[in-house]
Amino acid sequence: MIKSIEELEKFIELSSGERQWFEAQGEKLPLLVSRYYLALIDPSDPLDPIRRQVIPSIEELTPSPEEGRDPLAEVVHSVLPRLIHRYKNRVALLVSDTCATYCRHCFRRRFTATEDKIISPAEIDGVRVYLKEHPEIKEILLTGGDPLTLSDQRLEQLFKRLYGERNDLTVRLCTRIPVTYPQRITSKLIAMLKKVRRGPIYLMTQFNHPRELTKESIGAINLFVDNGFPALNQAVLLRGVNDSVEVLEELMNSLLFNRIKPYYLFQGDLVEGTGHLRVPLKEGLILEKELRKRLSGLAMPTYAVDLPGGAGKVVLTYNYLTGFNENVAIFEAPQGGQVGYPSG
Ligand SMILES: *Cc1c(COP(=O)(O)O)cnc(C)c1O
Ligand code: SF4
Repeated sequence: MIKSIEELEKFIELSSGERQWFEAQGEKLPLLVSRYYLALIDPSDPLDPIRRQVIPSIEELTPSPEEGRDPLAEVVHSVLPRLIHRYKNRVALLVSDTCATYCRHCFRRRFTATEDKIISPAEIDGVRVYLKEHPEIKEILLTGGDPLTLSDQRLEQLFKRLYGERNDLTVRLCTRIPVTYPQRITSKLIAMLKKVRRGPIYLMTQFNHPRELTKESIGAINLFVDNGFPALNQAVLLRGVNDSVEVLEELMNSLLFNRIKPYYLFQGDLVEGTGHLRVPLKEGLILEKELRKRLSGLAMPTYAVDLPGGAGKVVLTYNYLTGFNENVAIFEAPQGGQVGYPSG
C-alpha cells in the first residue's frame, strides 16, 4: 500500500497541483493506493484516468459553496450510528471506515478513513435487534468504507449475527476491492460466504473505466459469479475519467461481457472538494441519451442523482414523451421524428 509522497514519487512524477495537496494543511482524505492499482497508471500521462481517481490534487481543498460534508444528510437518516434507514424496505450499514484504496471522488468522506474503524460486536448486535424489529426491511447494503477490509473471520461473524433471526434478507456487498485490490478475493473468502449465506448476496462493484477490467479484477469477479453471487456495477460519472460516450460505451460493454450487469451511473454528489471531478448534469443527460442509442438494454445503466438533503435517488433520462394531444401521447422517436401512442 502506498501512503506517502516519498513512496509515490518512486512511481510517478507529481504535477505541481498534486504536490501542493501534500504540502497543504487541513483536513484531508488521506492518500492510500494499492500497489496493484497504482501499477494501472500510465506514469507518462499526467491526465491518466486511473491517476485522476486516486492521486489527490490541490483542487480538493477549495470546495465550492454548494458542496457539503454530508450532502445526502446520511447522519440525520441514521437510526443507529452506522445504520442508514432512508428507504422503507432497505438499509445501508457502514461496516468499516477503511478501503484498500481511497477514491478522490469519495462521496462519503465525512466517514471514510476517520476514527470509526470497524463495526464492534455491540454495534452489530444493535443492528440485529433493529432488523428483528423491522421486518419491512428486506435488503441490507453492507458498505463503508469497504466491508471487504474486514478479515474473513470478522465477516463471518458479521453475517452470522445479521442473519440472526432473519432468513429473508437480500444482502448487497458493496465493495470496490475487486477493482482496487483483487488479490483480496480468495477462494477461502468465497467458501466462507457460501457457507454463511442464507439468501442471495449480490456483489456491487464500482468500475469507472475500461482499463480497470484487468485479468486480476475479472478473475475476482469470476470467483463470485461462478459461485452464485451475481455482480452489478455502480459507476460514477467523473470529469476526465469517463465523461465521454466512447469510454462509457466501452466500459458498459466490457462489464456486461464479463458478467457484471451495469446498474447505476451516478451523477457526482455535492461532496466537498470533488467539484473538479463532477460533470455538469446537463452534460450527463447528453451522454445518457447518446449512450442509450449505442448500448443494448442489458448494457445500459440507469443514470441517477442522489438528491441533496437525503431526498432520495432520482432517475435521469432524456424525456422522449413530449406531451399529450387529446388521447394521444406524443413521443420523440429515438431514431428521429414524432410518433403517437393512445394514452387512454
Ligand atoms: C442508494 C441507497 C440505497 C439503495 O438504493 P437502490 O436504488 O435500491 O439501489 C439504500 N439505502 C441508502 C441509504 C442509499 O443511499
Ligand atoms: S471505495 Fe467507496 S468508500 Fe472507499 S474511498 Fe472509494 S468511494 Fe469512498
